[in-house]
Amino acid sequence: MDLFEYQGKQLFASFGIPMSPGKVALTPDQAVEAVEQLGIPVVVKAQVLVGGRGKAGGIKLVHDATEVEAHARAILGMDIKGHTVATLWIEKASEIAEEYYASFTLDRAAKLHLGMLSRRGGVDIEEVAATDPDAIAKIHIDPVDGLTEERAREWTSAADLPEPARAGALDVLCKLYVAYTEGDCDLVEINPLILTTDGQVHALDAKVTLDDNAAFRHPDWEQYESTQVLDHREAEARAKGLQYVGLEGSVGIIANGAGLAMSTCDVVNQVGGAPANFLDIGGGANAEVMANALEVINNDSGVRSIFINIFGGITRGEEVARGIVTALDRVELESPIVIRLDGTNAEEGRAILAEHESGMLRSSPAMLDAARTAVELAGSTT
Ligand code: GDP
Ligand code: MN
Repeated sequence: MDLFEYQGKQLFASFGIPMSPGKVALTPDQAVEAVEQLGIPVVVKAQVLVGGRGKAGGIKLVHDATEVEAHARAILGMDIKGHTVATLWIEKASEIAEEYYASFTLDRAAKLHLGMLSRRGGVDIEEVAATDPDAIAKIHIDPVDGLTEERAREWTSAADLPEPARAGALDVLCKLYVAYTEGDCDLVEINPLILTTDGQVHALDAKVTLDDNAAFRHPDWEQYESTQVLDHREAEARAKGLQYVGLEGSVGIIANGAGLAMSTCDVVNQVGGAPANFLDIGGGANAEVMANALEVINNDSGVRSIFINIFGGITRGEEVARGIVTALDRVELESPIVIRLDGTNAEEGRAILAEHESGMLRSSPAMLDAARTAVELAGSTT
């Protein structure tokens, strides 16, 4: 789960990481109120789960209190790379001398934590990594050892941070590591970490990804549920209790079992297509679940064909086939379906499907052939 900047900052603040005071505002009036408490100048910051807000006009430095309302009004509702701004973070402006970059994330290949620190902050770190990789000082940290102050100190010199920023940066890095591990985060990033003109080092931005598998340890994470922004397809699927992940391709996928759903995505890729989603309907595959799944996929404008891949185990093939036929009565489909039905009582199931075969519904006993047909149909119906 990704947090908004203001949520990340509140998390960081709870671990003692220094930053400028700020307030959440949902309306222009609340923005004005926030400024009355914070004092001028302030920065009005759009809260969206995407970077580059500054360039998109989502961050405004405001020196005149009478202009706050107009800026807040302009930013609220703004579209930033497909994300609509519903929340503002109003922060007391900082005077920036220098901008750095700091982050911790998991290096799965190394099975260690990875810390990255750079003098070149405030800009896109991927670009720094591509054009000037030496400007990023990396360290691997064994979770058993943790980040010692000594290593953190060496790290600040490896990153060549200027002398006046070293002590402050050391403090932030040690606290950030604790926030990352004790907070059960997959990623914490401060970009930029700034040195202010009066010599303070503090966090100007916050990016946090929580490890959802650790939710059971953090009852307070419930506060984030209501502010999560889901892909509209994922929101619809979640409401229907489906295991669904939206992807970018054109072949909608329905399978029973996560393993089969993953294999189905692989097979579609193998024959040159691209899955529009991952969808596991689990065991059962009854008409209700099948209709829900088809509805979700049907509402995805990127879908050109639908590949239903069912392997009957305890669930018998004829039940699955009846479920599909009943579901088709409920859902008016925009894309053709290819069904591969195998496993228990597959013959009986296929016989039922055969009665309903048409240009919109085909059945194919083998997974690879079915995938080919689905990919061809996705290509020819665009
Ligand atoms: P992002 O572009 O979405 O990553 O948003 P950031 O919060 O990182 O802000 C982008 C840039 O806006 C920073 O790199 C700063 O240059 C500028 N900025 C943000 N807050 C302040 C502030 O308090 N004072 C000043 N002078 N500039 C700021
Ligand atoms: Mn940033």
